[in-house]
Amino acid sequence: MEATQTAETPVPRVALVTGASRGIGAEISQHLRQDGWLVIGTATTEAGAKHISRQLGSLNANASTSGQNSPPQGYGRVLDVRDSSAIDALIGSIEAEFGAVLLLVNNAGITRDGLLLRMKPEEWQDIIATHLNSVYYLSRRVLKGMTKVRFGRIISISSVVARMGNPGQTNYCAAKAGVEGFSRALAGEMGSRGITVNCVAPGMIETDMTDALNEAQRERMLERIPLNRLGTPADIAAAVCFLASERAGFITGTVLPVNGGMYLD
Ligand code: NAP
Repeated sequence: MEATQTAETPVPRVALVTGASRGIGAEISQHLRQDGWLVIGTATTEAGAKHISRQLGSLNANASTSGQNSPPQGYGRVLDVRDSSAIDALIGSIEAEFGAVLLLVNNAGITRDGLLLRMKPEEWQDIIATHLNSVYYLSRRVLKGMTKVRFGRIISISSVVARMGNPGQTNYCAAKAGVEGFSRALAGEMGSRGITVNCVAPGMIETDMTDALNEAQRERMLERIPLNRLGTPADIAAAVCFLASERAGFITGTVLPVNGGMYLD
């Protein structure tokens, strides 16, 4: 069932979270929903989008998600963030159906690791397209709606390696450092319109992305983390919810590290 508005229902605060089918994006979506945002989460497949709708209560909604005091239902949609026309189409349809996107969380991500000497051009391009070009296309598109209401939040999920560097990840480190620079510049451009632009930089977080580590690599990582554990998606969701909230209204152009002390700068 799609969202309907009546005279009594307040204008929804619409959030778009890319890569919401699993890991950090799924957790961010749930937490934002609990905070009262109407969340549209994206996946690359129809099955993933349906899974998001189910998780956010709009598909097969049961009694516990449809009561009067329940958080707003959220919706899954298909998006490949490397496709700029798909971005235009998706945001156009969200605006028509729900209203302007007032919170954009750029979270979708992949890795294509390897030493630079052996890195193929497509491994470089795929990372830049997924992590950096997408942030340009998505941010530029949602700014139109945010500017009209003179409010907006753009939060991009960067990484500790943007500053720390990581051998075998030149492509990923370059893209994430690019996103941080982009956010600082855009914060300066949009501040006068009430739009804040920030990054959250996770350290090692338990998701599919880090499942690939073997025991020895995991142990080596833990030795570098003063808080002596990997982070959880909930640790990142808490930081995103804070930056999205009214309480963070005077914070812009910054990178909030959430890494257990793994890297201090
Ligand atoms: P994950 O569990 O592997 O999930 C990745 C998400 O991104 C999935 O929802 C996936 O959709 C989506 N995605 C991948 N390629 C996409 C594309 N071309 N277009 C649209 N969506 C796409 O990853 P994660 O660990 O939660 O990472 C989330 C973000 O945090 C990423 O930006 C990552 O770089 C960053 N990060 C993660 C860690 C960590 O330790 N995990 C550390 C630092 C930063 P499908 O399910 O449809 O494939």
